[in-house]
Amino acid sequence: MRLGRSRRSDNVIDARGGRGGVGRGAAIGCGPLIVVGILALLFGADPSEILRMLGQQGGATQQVEQTAPGQADEASEYVRRVLGETEDVWEDVYPAATGQPYREPALVLYSGVYPTACGTGSSATGPFYCPSDQRVYIDLSFFNQLARMGGTGDFAPAYVIAHEVGHHIQNLTGVLAASQRARGRSDVSVAVELQADCYAGVWAHHADRERDVLDESDVQEGLDAAAAVGDDAIRGGAVAPDALSHGTSQMRAEWFLRGFRSGDMRACDTFG
Ligand SMILES: [Zn+2]
Repeated sequence: MRLGRSRRSDNVIDARGGRGGVGRGAAIGCGPLIVVGILALLFGADPSEILRMLGQQGGATQQVEQTAPGQADEASEYVRRVLGETEDVWEDVYPAATGQPYREPALVLYSGVYPTACGTGSSATGPFYCPSDQRVYIDLSFFNQLARMGGTGDFAPAYVIAHEVGHHIQNLTGVLAASQRARGRSDVSVAVELQADCYAGVWAHHADRERDVLDESDVQEGLDAAAAVGDDAIRGGAVAPDALSHGTSQMRAEWFLRGFRSGDMRACDTFG
């Protein structure tokens, strides 16, 4: 990627290692526990199942964070610029497609475990989006894991961020709320995940054509990363259709590519 001229997003909250100034907790109302992630590490379970396993459903405690200055490092700099690129693309593309304004999500960098409005986030969950607080949560250690799984290159983490931002867009369009009514249905879960992959591709299209921040190898890195987090790749073999949670490697790569080729979020009807 070529992010040297990219704007740094102001919506990144750096809470790694407690350095983000986690203060006294203030309980806030907890919305329905839905959370959508990039993958399911624990035996391919639904991410919401993992949060349930952590025993944190309901009554999550939201804590006060501050973005502390002077914490810039290579990784957070990268995340800020990639998130900024998603903002600059979706600020144009989302209203053009929907007639509605785009509202930016926040992105929390944390390490270990972290309280969210959807329950306690954990490295074991992988990156996820919580619709109740409209935040993407990422433990940066995931990106090392992704590389070990075959998602290498500097675009692979950007694909992950764009996928989670894709879930935020589904929250704005109402797809997430509608899909929650069909919770537990594998085909709905897969359609939600593949649409987020397609939206990541739509973002990549505009990042490439209009903003010129992609290198030649980046699309292939995106396809490889999407394949690396396919259900069959994670579970090490074929997965029965009704046991899929995110889609196979082939499905995920195909939907990313469909979004990339079209650049149009209306090409992302994974429910049809
Ligand atoms: Zn997802």
